[in-house]
Amino acid sequence: RQGWMDRLKAGLRKTGTSITTVFTGTRIDDALYEELEDALLMADTGVKATQHLLEDLKRRVKESKTTEPAAVKGLLAEALTDLLAPLQKPLTIGEHQPTVLMVTGVNGAGKTTSIGKLTKHLADNGQTVLLAAADTFRAAAREQLGVWATRNTVEIVSQEGGDPAAVSFDAVSAGKARKKDVVLVDTAGRLPTQLHLMEELKKIKRVVSKADGTAPHEVLLVIDGNTGQNALNQVKAFDEALGLTGLIVTKLDGTAKGGVLAAIAQEKPIPVYFIGVGEKVEDLETFNAREFAQALLA
Ligand code: GDP
Repeated sequence: RQGWMDRLKAGLRKTGTSITTVFTGTRIDDALYEELEDALLMADTGVKATQHLLEDLKRRVKESKTTEPAAVKGLLAEALTDLLAPLQKPLTIGEHQPTVLMVTGVNGAGKTTSIGKLTKHLADNGQTVLLAAADTFRAAAREQLGVWATRNTVEIVSQEGGDPAAVSFDAVSAGKARKKDVVLVDTAGRLPTQLHLMEELKKIKRVVSKADGTAPHEVLLVIDGNTGQNALNQVKAFDEALGLTGLIVTKLDGTAKGGVLAAIAQEKPIPVYFIGVGEKVEDLETFNAREFAQALLA
């Protein structure tokens, strides 16, 4: 546990340094709040969440009657923790067999890597997993998923050049027949502006529900934490098209834009089931609001 917190702290230092230097002065005055506003905006916290945090912080400072800038940092950590709290929710597996997770994202967000990490995480917890390679266009994507399947000794349903919705249907049907705990459907990366590809995702979702009336049980979006406000826009667009139930935020090991989680909490509070803190398979952690706030302001 400690190891990953250190990595998260080290990673978020890029985001946090400009925020924490605000509190090195000697007075709590307008200049401090202005500097803090700039630092939060620079960290991609967004206008709304920044405004919210500043107001909440000023209230807390007044209540505490403190005159020490250093103490303000602690109060900001509390304000940030409260803002982020709605994002903290565990992914529940087990209410359905199989639990069907559909995983979406733009290219390069870390979707395939995250599916690999998640597969290991689930397998380590004793869950049986079946992977569905619904990215039928890119051979490399299928191969990469195949590598994760082999490495974790889980089954995979894959078909070259087939219809992504048909592959997903087959995988969910197979998952039911083989009594798997989890079916992970990997979809091809796409931009929310590629409308025909967004229609394809809607189709996958529809067709999966034909294989199992209650599926998909989760529609996840993988976002690159390094892309800041762009990531927030992706959350909004994918949610509008598909109705997202959860997020995986990757690359928090070394981003200057970690404030985007506050923006998401303020504008589109969809649970962050996991965060990616490195390229290795074990670098996936559950999101904890307090830990994140403390790491950001460490
Ligand atoms: P996809 O196109 O969304 O499937 O993206 P990939 O899973 O192929 O990942 C793109 C790149 O991001 C790869 O080089 C991954 O190793 C890297 N990556 C994914 N997640 C993380 C993370 O949490 N931290 C870091 N540092 N790199 C990551």
